[in-house]
Parts: sequence; C-alpha cells; structure tokens
Amino acid sequence: MPAIAELFETMDYGPAPEAADPALAWLDARGRKTELYINGQWVAPQSGQWLETSNPATNQPLAQVAAAGPADVDAAVAAARAAFPAWSSLPGQTRARYLYAIARHIQKHSRLLAVLESLDNGKPIRETRDLDIPLVARHFYYHAGWAQLMEREFPDQQALGVVGQIIPWNFPLLMLAWKIAPALAMGNTVVLKPAKFTALSALAFAEILDEIGLPPGVVNIVTGDASQVGETLVNHPDVDKIAFTGSTDVGRSLRRATAGSGKRLSLELGGKSPFVVFDDADLDSVVEGVVDAIWFNQGQVCCAGSRLLVQENIAETLYAKLRVRMEKLRVGDSLDKAVDIGAIVGPSQLATITRLVEQGVAEGATLWQPTWACPTEGCYFPPTLFTNVAPATTIAQTEIFGPVMVAMTFRTPSEAVALANNTRYGLAASVWSDNLNLALDIARRIKAGTVWVNSTNLFDAAAGFGGYRESGFGREGGREGLYEYLRPVWETGIRHQASGVRGPGSGVSDDAVAGERPAADSDGVAAADGADQSAPPTGRSDKHKAATVHSNGSSNGHTATVNTQHSTLNTQHVAVDRTPKMYIGGKQARPDSGYSRPVHDPAGRLLGEVGEGNRKDIRNAVEAARRAEGWANTTGHARAQILYYIAENLTAREDEFAARIVAQMGGDPADAAAEVATAVSRLFTYAAWADKFDGQVHHTPLRSVTVAMPEAVGVIGIACPTAYPLLGCVSLVAPAIAMGNTVVAIPSEVHPLSATDLYQVFDTSDLPGGVVNLVTGGREPLVRVLADHDDVDAVWYCGSAAGSQIVEHASAGNMKRTWVDYGHPRAWRDPMQGEGPEFLREATQVKNIWVPYGE
Ligand code: NDP
Repeated sequence: MPAIAELFETMDYGPAPEAADPALAWLDARGRKTELYINGQWVAPQSGQWLETSNPATNQPLAQVAAAGPADVDAAVAAARAAFPAWSSLPGQTRARYLYAIARHIQKHSRLLAVLESLDNGKPIRETRDLDIPLVARHFYYHAGWAQLMEREFPDQQALGVVGQIIPWNFPLLMLAWKIAPALAMGNTVVLKPAKFTALSALAFAEILDEIGLPPGVVNIVTGDASQVGETLVNHPDVDKIAFTGSTDVGRSLRRATAGSGKRLSLELGGKSPFVVFDDADLDSVVEGVVDAIWFNQGQVCCAGSRLLVQENIAETLYAKLRVRMEKLRVGDSLDKAVDIGAIVGPSQLATITRLVEQGVAEGATLWQPTWACPTEGCYFPPTLFTNVAPATTIAQTEIFGPVMVAMTFRTPSEAVALANNTRYGLAASVWSDNLNLALDIARRIKAGTVWVNSTNLFDAAAGFGGYRESGFGREGGREGLYEYLRPVWETGIRHQASGVRGPGSGVSDDAVAGERPAADSDGVAAADGADQSAPPTGRSDKHKAATVHSNGSSNGHTATVNTQHSTLNTQHVAVDRTPKMYIGGKQARPDSGYSRPVHDPAGRLLGEVGEGNRKDIRNAVEAARRAEGWANTTGHARAQILYYIAENLTAREDEFAARIVAQMGGDPADAAAEVATAVSRLFTYAAWADKFDGQVHHTPLRSVTVAMPEAVGVIGIACPTAYPLLGCVSLVAPAIAMGNTVVAIPSEVHPLSATDLYQVFDTSDLPGGVVNLVTGGREPLVRVLADHDDVDAVWYCGSAAGSQIVEHASAGNMKRTWVDYGHPRAWRDPMQGEGPEFLREATQVKNIWVPYGE
C-alpha cells in the first residue's frame, strides 16, 4: 500500500472495484445456462445447442446461451402473432401502464443490469450504471407516455403487427430499449434477437417482463447465431417489419433479403462521424469532448466522433493537449469504477481494430499511443491518435469501431464541411466553436442525422436518432421514431399476395379500388428485369403494341419515320399531333437513343410519341437534379410561391389538360375534369405545406435545446402511377419539391402526355431548371437505373410487385430510401391516400441539432 503522502505526489488511483456478486449470483441461479423466452415461457432450444459467452475483460467464460434454430424462431413469431390482436387493441393507457411498470422494474434492478452488462460486454461500470441503464428506464417512461397519447395523437395510424428486431453488442440493453419501447407503445408485438456476444442483459430484461406480468407472446427473446436466428427472422413470412442496428454490410444484405416482401425496414448502421473543431473553440472542452467522442465505450459506438477535423492553425496545439490527456486515460477491468476505457467486446473485434491500425501505419499516417501498456489478460486496445491522415485512406473512410481517432486539418468553414461530408456515412457530427452562428451554419450543412454543437454523444428518448446516406434510414426516439412502428389505417391487414406478408398498400379497401381507374391500372406494366435499356422497345400487349419510331434527329419529331420491323401500326393513317421531348435541367431534351415510343388512345390509334429514355438520359437528369440542389436552401416561402404559381397556371389550362386525359384514356370527361381539379388542389395543398412542415424542439432532460429539423432528402427518383397520368405525377412531385428535393420523374408509361404537357406549365411558373426533370420511356428499365444510381437519395415507385422488388433490391447499393407500392395502387383521388403528411415525411429526413446551454 503506498503511503498517503506518496499518493498525493503521484495522484494515482487505486482500484475501485464494483462487486460482481449480483450478476454472478444471477448466473449461478440459472446453472450458468440460459434458455429462450418464447410466449412468456423459458424453453430450451429445439436444436439442443448452446453458445458460450465470456467476459472480454478476462476472457473467462460466463455462461452458456441457448442457440436457437429456425423452429424456435417460428415458435416465437407464432407467439407474437397470437398476442398481437389483443395487445394492439388494448387501450393506450393499459399499454402505458405496462411500460411504466417495465421502467420502474429496470430502476429497481439497475445494479444487477449494470453489472451483468459490464461483465458481458467489457464496458466500464461507470457507463452502464450512469448512462446505459438510466437511459433504458427513460426510454420506457417516455414511450409509456406515447402509448397513453396514441389514440389522440395518431388517429389515422395503426400498429404494424409482428416486428423482428436485431440488435448489436455495443449497447445491448439500450438498443433493446430503443427497439422494444416504441414498438410496444404503438401496439406491436416483438421477436428480438440479441447479439451473440452480449445476450445476457436481454434475458434479465425478459425476467422483468415476467415480473410485471406482460401478456405472453408480446415480447419474445430468441438468442443464437445470426445465420440461424437473424436470417430466419429476416426471411420469415409472418414478420411485418425488421428493425436492425449493426454494420452497414449486414444492413445492406437485409435490404436485399427483404426486397419486395412488403416488410417494413429500418436500419441504424455504421458511421465515420466528423468531430469538427474551429480555432475559436475552447480547447480544454474540446479535449474532454474527444475523450467522450472516441474513447467512450472503447470507441465501439456507431456515432463515435472518429474523424477529428481541426482548423489548421490550432491543430498542433490541440494534438499536444490530446496527447497529454491520453497519457492519463486508464484502461482496465470493466468493473473498476476508476477506468476510462474498458475491454473490447471480443477477440474478433480486437483483431479487426489491430488490422486497421496496422493498415493506417502502412498508409503513412502518424500513430500515437500512450506510453503505458494495456493489461495483458483480456481484450484491450490503447487509445490511439492518427495524425497526417490523407482523406481518401482506409482509416479515414472505414468504420474502425475501436478507440482510434484519425485527425485531418482544414482551413475554411467550407473546407470543413467538404471534409465532414466526404464519407459514405451520415450518422452524426460534432461541431466546436464559440461562434454559435458559425456552428449552427456548419450543423445545417453537414449531412448527418444528429449534430451536437460543443458537445458529443448526447442521447435521449425524446430526440430521434438515425442516419443519412449509408448510415441507414428511419429514426429511433422522438415523435419521428414512432412512425417506424405505424402505418395508415386505410391499409388494412390483407396479406401481400406475392409473398404472404403484410405490406404498405397491400390492404387497399374496396372503396379505394373503386376509386382507381380500373382499365388504367389493370394494364400495369410487367417488370422488365434485365431489359436492355438501350434497345428499342418491344411490344407489351396487343392493345399497346409499341410501334418503334425513330425521330430521325428531326427538330420536333413530327417527321418521324417508322421502323417497320417493330411496328404493327401504320402511322400514315393516324394523325400524329406532336412529339414532346423529355425535360432535363429546365430544357427540352431529345432522347439519347434517338428513338421515340408511341402513345395510343384507348382505340389503339396513335396519339403522339414521346422520347424513349435510356440510362444516359436518366444520368443526365440526375446530374441536372443534383446541380439544382440549391433549391433546398430556398425558403419554404419561396417554394410555396412557385407551387401556387404552377397551380394557377394549371388552372388556366384546366380544359386542355382534361381533354388530354380523355384523349389518352377515354372515359367520362367529368372524371378527367375532376382529376385536373384535384391536381390543382393538391398543388395548393403542398404550396400551403411548403413553409409549414416545421420541426420541433425536443424536451430532452439535459440542459440543451434540441432542434429537430426536417430536411430535404436530396435527389428523389419517382416512377409515377400508370393511372391518373396527371394527378399521380402531381401528387408525388409536388410534396417532393415543396420540401426542397429535386426530382427525376418517369411519367405514366402508358399515358405520358399529361406529364409532358406539365413542363410548359413549369416553364411559365419560375420553377428553376433541374428541380423537376421528366424522362419518358419504359418504367421498369428506367426506374432500375434510378435505383442503381449512387447519386440518387431516394426512389418512390408506383407499379408492379416485381418492380417494387427490383427497386428495393437495387437501392441497397448506396442504401437509398425507397417507398414502393408492391403493385397495390392508391386511390389517388381520395385525400386520405393521395396526399398529406405521409408524403411530407417521405420527402424529408429529420436532423436533430443539440445545442447545450449554460456556462
Ligand atoms: P453485425 O452487423 O454483424 O451484427 C449486428 C447484429 O446483427 C447481431 O445481432 C448479429 O448477430 C446480427 N446479424 C449479423 N448478420 C446477420 C444476418 N445476415 N441476418 C440477420 N442478422 C444478422 O455486426 P458485428 O457484430 O459483426 O460487428 C461488425 C462491425 O459492424 C463492427 O466492427 C462495426 O464496424 C459494425 N457495427 C456497427 C454497429 C452500429 O451500432 N452501427 C453495432 C455493431 C457493429 P450475431 O451477433 O449473432 O452475429
């Protein structure tokens, strides 16, 4: 024992161990072997297999955890399905009482939960005790409130059904709470798969559910391996939604696996979050911020500030201060209350971190680590700082998921933003400056779901959390997070025909079907998977057999010559009134292929021709849309003015547009007039919304103003519905541009002339070039190019079930958001289905900016 005088001299900490007893006693009481929690019962896995879980701080085994197989997952899903009707129809207040009870019992068992979590994961007890477990309880309290308020606040929404939830190992119980609390509050039932490294706290949680008497089957916890449990859950036909947190690679595979199934999906994925320091920031606070950003939870945090972007003139000063602080950090056993950094979760993760750090050195970056050594028993890695990092290197771009900071410098605010956004991710960011105007401007310009000003890693149930770009989609927490577990009441529970799962749009009511134009949608175009976009179009049906027309490079196509090889129509006997071009970057554009496609009236007579768009045209249109992204920075007021103007100009030509609809589709002129009138009204609606779809200020318990801002998603590709050639296009394009997005739209494939007529209206309404681009042609090949395109941020698709599958599958490339109808058309004239906040939510993503206050 050192003398007290000596301790004053060295200011060394002694060990301050938290007793492991409660957790070890809990494990011993179960014979160190855990079972599955299905339908309110503890059951052995049908496979008879168990996996070992160990303490990464010592590498000593802790327990055997049941390794479920597909049959166990089936049983869990069946239990959740059976529990759903009763649970979802309980009064909100009754569900609220269950959630309050869960929260209270979490507080009651907080010591057990904190110790168990630290033992199983390796994270310091200070973090589990002071952050993870209190936030878990807070999540259940907060969402109990939403259960209470659901009927009043979400009268037009209903629960989704059975939700499969897959969580990672970095915050095992907290991620469980983020998933389960909103799902239960909104009336869903759950099957949850914990990560195999860290299943124990989820099982202790299941005991709490028993304790409070949660009805059997409402929550089922199925432990085991990803290939057995995770994949079965993801592919299960009776699961309505998958909510996932984990790596971007697995998220991408889940997007592909669920494509076309009708399952809803929310993905909270990886990040490489920037930590931006301006030269007027308080550097001592910055140093503590960096400690919290990258050494909290050993850097195994999806939103870890892992890229230090520092203004050049203060870089060396900051690095020097950081090295001093790093030298004082303490790495050690998770149950020691005096350690700053615990153990890495397991040997495989430790090996990944080691490999990436070696790669950083090989890439030429300068490595710095403290002089002291980590404990040799267990999985430890020292805090690490890389300087002289080139922005394109692996360590600057790859999520290391360990205690490793990579530093780069910038000179100007714009350079800082460019560097911050130079990543495929967009989960979080931290901005440090004493100039609040500058910090908020940078926060606005960084593409990330959460931005902390002069702070980092702040979380609360009231503030939504989730990513932009390849960090995933969907939000957890806040009002915005609840929509991940809801769907409109007009979607009934009719099963999706193709896959046997429930899906959005799958339950169109009889009224709704009656509201569609039957002829128009029954000729829904079959998906042309793998079609060669550059080839001339081939016939689709007898009625609409494509007469391929080469525009011959003529200025307006009026002198088209028929390629008789592909033609079944003699255009010489039919009046071809005009060939509208496509509309790209505010200009009329001739199709790259030089080909046109015919447009027929219901009697099969040629009405006109439109350009046969191809991959190149889509690329040009996406480029134009990207160039026009300044549209997002115009005020809502200005966007509203332009939408009003478009509405007025359309009103002035109502008769002409109605006549065009009748010419293309036949039918009752009164119906066509009603379609035009509804389109005008819809434009007025979104003009009205343009400056009113506001964000919120969340009441987080921390001393902070947390501003939730809906922002434009970016470039949205839209495949318009076949029916309602004008209204369908307007109903989708108007909300998108009202919220500041730019659009590449594929008009109705069969009746495109109403959309191409629209660009004359745009031209006379001051709509900036490139905000709306129209590419005519075959819907399926064109939308596929959009879904594949890495510079498109979202795709909305109205069409066939097969086309929906293609769009969702292809969108996994850059994890773009998708909104598809699985072949079930909306009743576009019905305002419940055809307009409203649902469209605005799809057109926006919420960014939460945290601004702490107080000295
Ligand atoms: P994964 O993404 O592989 O695992 C997360 C969860 O998904 C676990 O429950 C895992 O199960 C499950 N899972 C894995 N593959 C599938 C699948 N095909 N179908 C269904 N479920 C699946 O993360 P890892 O644990 O492998 O970590 C690898 C890397 O991922 C880390 O180095 C880090 O970069 C990143 N990561 C990011 C996280 C985040 O919060 N953004 C969290 C965790 C990791 P099982 O545990 O049985 O493998």
